[in-house]
Amino acid sequence: MASKIFHPISFMFLIFILLAPIGHAKRSIPSDKNSSPFDFIKKLEGCHKGNNTKDIHELKAYLEQFGYLNYPNKTHATDDDFDDTLESALKTYQKNYNIKPSGIIDDETISKMTTPRCGVPDIVNGTNYMQPRDNKHEPSSSTFHIVSHYSFFQGNPRWPPSKTRLTYRFEANYPTSAIPPVARAFQKWDAATRFSFAQVPTNQFSDLVIGFFRGNHGDGYPFDGRGGTLAHAFAPTDGRFHYDADESWSIGSVPGSFDLETLALHEIGHLLGLDHSSVSAAIMFPTFSDGEVKNLHPDDIEGIRVLYL
Ligand SMILES: [Zn+2]
Ligand SMILES: [Zn+2]
Repeated sequence: MASKIFHPISFMFLIFILLAPIGHAKRSIPSDKNSSPFDFIKKLEGCHKGNNTKDIHELKAYLEQFGYLNYPNKTHATDDDFDDTLESALKTYQKNYNIKPSGIIDDETISKMTTPRCGVPDIVNGTNYMQPRDNKHEPSSSTFHIVSHYSFFQGNPRWPPSKTRLTYRFEANYPTSAIPPVARAFQKWDAATRFSFAQVPTNQFSDLVIGFFRGNHGDGYPFDGRGGTLAHAFAPTDGRFHYDADESWSIGSVPGSFDLETLALHEIGHLLGLDHSSVSAAIMFPTFSDGEVKNLHPDDIEGIRVLYL
């Protein structure tokens, strides 16, 4: 399938120019463009319970950021002890990503943990929604047991059932070239669900609002420079969807860049009330490789159908 591709470097430059006055990251952004904020995990290869290796505190911070750890005693959150709590959190992470829950930082775990991802945590307030729960799934027939792993946010926030038409707008500095992939993502969700979407001008009220931001941009979920977290969005009825302006973005599959439409499909899922899924083919699976193009999956569509029953 032919895709219109614009040069990622020029697009980065355009975004830099557009966003330059907006904000600056508090943390330093790696100067090597090939390094990622998650690269420290590679140094922990083979680590397991009982180890006391430099940088384990960074693994703790990573697992805390995505909801897997919450030490009541903050001393343990910042030390380098691979303790029981960390082992348990790591095993939960491995289960969610379909990795054997060994509690060891093995190759597969490193590969998954270093893959860029959505910034929305996988676990909220200790509840692991990515794993199937007894009360969530009903077999759709006695012949086929369809295993779904979609999930919702805590308390199942959703748009009022009567509100099926949602409006969206782009932030004032949003690059025009990045509008069509988001519009196509809305069309795909429109075709697959009860919702319809309509773009309104930037100066009008809308239910949803989309923009590019970099570093710490005031919503409590700072971006982290190139690699690491790519985008995030808030549960209903907040409506905010942010791309990380420091990434290299593309339209379609471009090695070294991330497809705007694929990430839009994922973040719109959050805007509608879906949280992460452990089905790796689902759009709501949390990680995205560069050059990867994904589409809606039956697991995603079933999740919306059940949320709005
Ligand atoms: Zn996400
Ligand atoms: Zn944000």
